[in-house]
Amino acid sequence: MENSVKIVREISEKEEGQVVFDVWKNVLAEIERNLTPSSYLTWFGGATLLSIKDGVVTVGVPNFMKRSHIESRYNHLVQRALKNNGVEFDKVVYELIDNSPKVRKGGIEVTEKTERPERVKKVKTSDMARFTIATGLKREYTIDNFVVGSNNDLAVSVAKAVIENPGKKYNPFFLYGGSGLGKTHLVMAIGNELLRRNPNMRILYVPINHFYTEFVNAVRNGRMDGFRKKYQKLDLLIIDDFQFIVGKEKSQEEFFNIFNDMYQANKQIIVTSDRLPSQIKTVDERLASRLTWMGAYDLQMPSLEDRCAILKAKAEYSGVEIEDEAIEYLAENVKTNIRALEKEFHQILALAELKGRTPLELINDGYVNNTRSTRSEISPRTVVERVAKYYQLSVKELKGKSRVSHIKTARQVAMFLLTEELSLSTTKIATEVGVKDHTTVMHGIKKIKNDLKLDFALREQISEIRESLNA
Ligand code: ADP
Ligand code: MG
Repeated sequence: MENSVKIVREISEKEEGQVVFDVWKNVLAEIERNLTPSSYLTWFGGATLLSIKDGVVTVGVPNFMKRSHIESRYNHLVQRALKNNGVEFDKVVYELIDNSPKVRKGGIEVTEKTERPERVKKVKTSDMARFTIATGLKREYTIDNFVVGSNNDLAVSVAKAVIENPGKKYNPFFLYGGSGLGKTHLVMAIGNELLRRNPNMRILYVPINHFYTEFVNAVRNGRMDGFRKKYQKLDLLIIDDFQFIVGKEKSQEEFFNIFNDMYQANKQIIVTSDRLPSQIKTVDERLASRLTWMGAYDLQMPSLEDRCAILKAKAEYSGVEIEDEAIEYLAENVKTNIRALEKEFHQILALAELKGRTPLELINDGYVNNTRSTRSEISPRTVVERVAKYYQLSVKELKGKSRVSHIKTARQVAMFLLTEELSLSTTKIATEVGVKDHTTVMHGIKKIKNDLKLDFALREQISEIRESLNA
């Protein structure tokens, strides 16, 4: 999807799990603001959006008089309101419709008088104007099903403050953290909750690469005006995965302008990224500092206990049965990120259904190890080799006596991963990484654990090594 704002017809409850706002309702509201109450009712009562197709917007109007009056007097008003609500079109046409109330007479349904019934199109209520603009939000990501733990409590409290007072204190809200740790979920949850509280709020969630494509297309097709207008109208803009802005200077500039306009108008901006702006190459320094003006809030890998809580919440949400022990087993074994954890969770549930067994029975029978065979085969040696390779060292160098800082870090990372991934004892780890005694190992592990809290680059390195181990 190149443009994340799209017109969606007939949104069913399940429509891609997306949340939408009603374009036509907003168009009418804008028209209403421009007319006296009585002329609004006289001319626009019963007006309905019928279709938007091939650049033609078709509006249904209940009678001739209204139609000719709107056509001659209010066409420009309708056009402007449509544009302001993000609808792109070449022309607007007005069609007669019949949506007058049915009156039952002697058991036969008749329609009350309309002019020239032979030319009038029948409209069912269900056909009417369920044209909506996608906000890009997925319904299932709510604040209620986002499990709070020590890994994310600060970010969640800021998210809640944004929900209470959008555009006020935490503007912009900058959220960062490694892949699969809940950034998208949390920011969509803010959008969903705000929309629930105020269905007319104009919200747009857009991954930065969609923003980029949309921008490039707008430039190419000479539609920059429309592009800018769309963003100017927003009350909340959520930009996801900002790190992909790298090397896209023009888009960055455009985003910076939109950012400034929205900020000055007290409109809320939320930005996520897998790292801090200062760590993204080619990000303008002023933009980088503005993005983190109100702080940068991060998400970390949840503890074992919180991982269990997340799986329990997912099970409850999707109404599936899974034993506590099975949940604990999964939470203990998947330590890379929550997305990976969920994947295992769904796999075991699917397998359980297929085999007519419970998840725990499968685990006890060793089925799970089959599905995750690579994991159980990771040896201490592989861990050390992968870490050395990642830091472009030989195993010998890593296990040597060098105290050069990057070699020492690599050695400590190896210690950390050996305990986290393989639960080796510190004495065993000492042998694997070539240090004298287990206190050095304990110190090394502690050092990495501490550094992980603040050093984002390190976090990313470790998660990349973990990915390579679990691949
Ligand atoms: P990111 O955007 O950081 O890569 P996502 O938001 O896509 O991560 O999260 C990955 C998966 O993990 C999603 O299915 C999300 O619902 C789930 N998840 C992450 N954090 C939590 C949490 N605290 N509570 C519940 N589910 C979570
Ligand atoms: Mg994401």
